[in-house]
Amino acid sequence: MMMPKTYSSLPNFTFHDYQGLLESLLQVGYKFEFVKNLLPASSIDQSKKQIVYLRHDIDFHLNGVEKIALIENRLRICATYYVLLTEQYNVLHPRSLAVLEAILRLGHDIGLHYDLSIYPTDLPAAHARLRWEIDLLRRITGRDIKTIVTHQPFRGIPDPFRALDIYIHPHNSKYQENLTYISDSARSWRDENLLNCFKESRPQRLLLNTHPEFWLSDEMIKDRWVYSKSVMHPNINAIATDSLRAQEAVWRDHIATKLHDAREVK
Ligand SMILES: [Zn+2]
Repeated sequence: MMMPKTYSSLPNFTFHDYQGLLESLLQVGYKFEFVKNLLPASSIDQSKKQIVYLRHDIDFHLNGVEKIALIENRLRICATYYVLLTEQYNVLHPRSLAVLEAILRLGHDIGLHYDLSIYPTDLPAAHARLRWEIDLLRRITGRDIKTIVTHQPFRGIPDPFRALDIYIHPHNSKYQENLTYISDSARSWRDENLLNCFKESRPQRLLLNTHPEFWLSDEMIKDRWVYSKSVMHPNINAIATDSLRAQEAVWRDHIATKLHDAREVK
């Protein structure tokens, strides 16, 4: 185990600092639990066990996300990965499926990340849409989907699913007592609340949301625009680029292109 970082400053977005953050949370006594095991305030363990509910919203791509799952697995930490079915990554592509399988094999859980901006405004239709997405993700993963979270809640669209009892939504008001929420939104730390987890008066329960796509670098790339261009763009485009290269190889060898070009020469 590497020496834990002393938390006088927030972690950089690197593999190294991600691992250091988890090790430091373990070192100060936090245990990690699945979001689906969140308990309402009335049933919170009276022993005041310190718990981290580690959550990942997959907003951009699955490519490379298994590296984060592996870091956690090596530390015997469990996390919940929330997958969108409606973003630009194709969950059914074999390479995406391989990442989802790796996440599950490494001991993690998968939940649904739903995007209200594309949901029907009619309430029964919205519920039917949610059930359809959950069923789809259940079939894709072969696991029951017990937990859901909203994509881009900052858009302010009223969320009819947050208070449902049948799925665990970590922002349901019944879970909020004694639960501190911290997220790495926009590859940035909004405030320094994360550092409170390493003080004497640390939060008892922490809902920590990190986007794995922001941490996939050995190199410390502080500039988020440079990171976006040099790491996120290639990862987002990885499957499309390989698919296009494969198509170009087909074009080069295809009899139709040879016959077509031979006619052009005449
Ligand atoms: Zn999201």
